[in-house]
Amino acid sequence: MISTKIAYTIIPSPNHNLPGHPESPDRFQHFHKLSQAPFSEQLILIDPQVVPQSAVTAIHPPAYLEALEQAAARGPGFVDHGDTYITPASYQAALEAAGGAIAIVNAVTEGRARSGFALVRPPGHHASATRASGFCLMNNIAIATCYAQSLGFQRVMIVDFDVHHGNGTQDLFEQDPGVLYLSTHQSGIYPGTGGLNEVGQGEGTGSVVNIPLPPRAGDQAFAAITERVITPIAERFSPDIFLISAGFDAHWNDPLASLQLTTSGYSELGKALVELAESLCQGRIVYMLEGGYDPQDLYDNVMAIMHTLAGVQPPDDRLGPAPFPEPAINDLLANILAIHDL
Ligand SMILES: [Zn+2]
Repeated sequence: MISTKIAYTIIPSPNHNLPGHPESPDRFQHFHKLSQAPFSEQLILIDPQVVPQSAVTAIHPPAYLEALEQAAARGPGFVDHGDTYITPASYQAALEAAGGAIAIVNAVTEGRARSGFALVRPPGHHASATRASGFCLMNNIAIATCYAQSLGFQRVMIVDFDVHHGNGTQDLFEQDPGVLYLSTHQSGIYPGTGGLNEVGQGEGTGSVVNIPLPPRAGDQAFAAITERVITPIAERFSPDIFLISAGFDAHWNDPLASLQLTTSGYSELGKALVELAESLCQGRIVYMLEGGYDPQDLYDNVMAIMHTLAGVQPPDDRLGPAPFPEPAINDLLANILAIHDL
C-alpha cells in the first residue's frame, strides 16, 4: 500500500542568530505544536541527517564552502552587502538545514512517506553557487534537487512561492531542461530579478517561469495563476517530483513585503499542488521552508499547508481576509500565457 504519511523535520539552528534580525530562531517558536495536529498519526518526525558532502559540492564549489566556513569562524559579521549575517555556528547550521532537506527527500523517494516538509533555517533560495545573499548561505532546494536527480528522479519541478524571487535557484538551473523553476514573487523588491522575460537559457530555455506580481496581489491572483499557469505548465513538464520553496512572506500580514495572500489562499494553493503531485508523480511533493517572518503567522500558514498534505480541511483562517482590494492581473497573465505558449 502506498504511504499516506507526511515526513517532517524541524531544524531551528538556535545559534545561527543575530539579535534584532528578522531571520531568527524565534520564527520557529510554535513549530513544536505540529505534533499535536489533528492528523498527527500521519506525521513522521525525521531525525536530522548529515548532508552528504557530494550533495553540497554538486551545487557549491569547495572554494566557496571553505570561504564560507572561514567567514563563519571569524563571525559574527555579514557576508554580502545586504543583510546576510554569519556567526561561528552558521556554517554548521547551513549544512544541517541542507541535511534536513535531504532527509525529507529520502523519506519521500524511498516511499516511507508520501509527502514532506523540511522546516529548516537558514533558508536557501537566494544563494547561488558562489554567493551567499538574502539571508541564505547554501541553497537547500538546489542541493535537494540535484540529490533527487542523482536518485533517478530526473525531472524536478520547483515551485517557489516566497514573496522574493529565488534568484539563486534560477541561476543554478536556468540551463537545465530537467528542472522546471516556477516563481511567484512581488515585482520590484529584493533581489530585483525574476522578470517575465527570464525564461531560462540554452537547453533550459522555457524551463524558467517567472510571475512578477504587483503589490497587493493576493488570493484571486494566485487562484488564476494556479489554474492558468501552474497547472498547465506542470502537466506539460510532467515532473517525477515536486520540490516547493515555501516562503510565507507573501502573506498580507508579513512585515517584509506587500503581497496579500491569506492563510486560506495558502490552503488553496497547497491543495492544487497536492492534486498535481497526485496526478503526475504518485503524490511526491517536498516542501522546504524559505521566508515568513511573523512567528505566529508562519505557524498558521505552515499548518495550512500541512493540512493539505494530510488531506484534511484546515481550520478557520485566524488572520482573516487581506485588508486592501487586489489589483487586476489580466494583462500580466496574458503576457505569461503568450511567452510560455499556454
Ligand atoms: Zn522571502
